[in-house]
Amino acid sequence: MAYRLGSEMIEAADALFNKIHAYDPSVDCDKLVRAFNFGMEAHDGQTRASGEPYYIHPIAVANILADMRLDLDTIITALLHDTVEDCDVTLDSLGEAFGPNIAQLVDGVTKLSRIGLQAGQNSLQAENFRKLLLAMSEDVRVLLVKLADRTHNMITIDHIAKPEKRTRIARETLEIYAPLAERIGVTNLQHALENAAFGVLQDEMAQTITARLDYMVHESEIIIPMISVELQDVVERGGVECSVSGRLKSPYSIWRKMQRKKVTMDQLSDIMAFRILVPSTADCYQALGSIHAAYPNVM
Ligand code: MN
Repeated sequence: MAYRLGSEMIEAADALFNKIHAYDPSVDCDKLVRAFNFGMEAHDGQTRASGEPYYIHPIAVANILADMRLDLDTIITALLHDTVEDCDVTLDSLGEAFGPNIAQLVDGVTKLSRIGLQAGQNSLQAENFRKLLLAMSEDVRVLLVKLADRTHNMITIDHIAKPEKRTRIARETLEIYAPLAERIGVTNLQHALENAAFGVLQDEMAQTITARLDYMVHESEIIIPMISVELQDVVERGGVECSVSGRLKSPYSIWRKMQRKKVTMDQLSDIMAFRILVPSTADCYQALGSIHAAYPNVM
């Protein structure tokens, strides 16, 4: 695939294509390359706060969504998500080039972005705003693109020069976008959003907790598999098949718990989190029963 892409962009397009092809072998390569070209031309001459070509951003957003194995229309929407808002592109021309579905999805993302600019300050407004965003996103893919968009903007927020602007964006991320990600169950984006915003709003605290967690990673590599095996054994002896996975908690969730319980990180007992997957709801209660029977409950 060559077309009008420069060599760096051909590499980026190739990498994205390969990523999608791994989970969707029928992916339409031509359509993806056309979207790459279209978006690059639209954003031609624009730069990010970092000074990089603007187009780096939609490509990064598309990659976040490809990591989540989303369909090609979602990926293409990501590649084009800022073209109507920031360029001379019309929805009609998007529709002509990529069909009505893509045009509709980009329109949805554009509307969410415009509304975002008017987001309220207090928590009641934030709650209303979250509801509004949910209601507006008839197609959940619109919301996923918007959340991935915000995630990349948070990852690159250090390039924004004004501290007040960084703070405002980080607050909005914590109050609106991270809870939305949680609501629709996209925990990877929820944690990425929370941790990036936490780093902006509580820089020192975030660094301290992250350093402590880095230190514990070593230990956890041994402890987490041990506990996972034990948990699996407890649940399966109760007659339920399951798979168990464990992780270190995220810096932000640790901090939130420290706040809530008014304790230091040393006094915090749950630094690790475990997830037990079982076949049915009934199995879930059965598994919970086995866990409660085997371990004391700490409130
Ligand atoms: Mn964007």
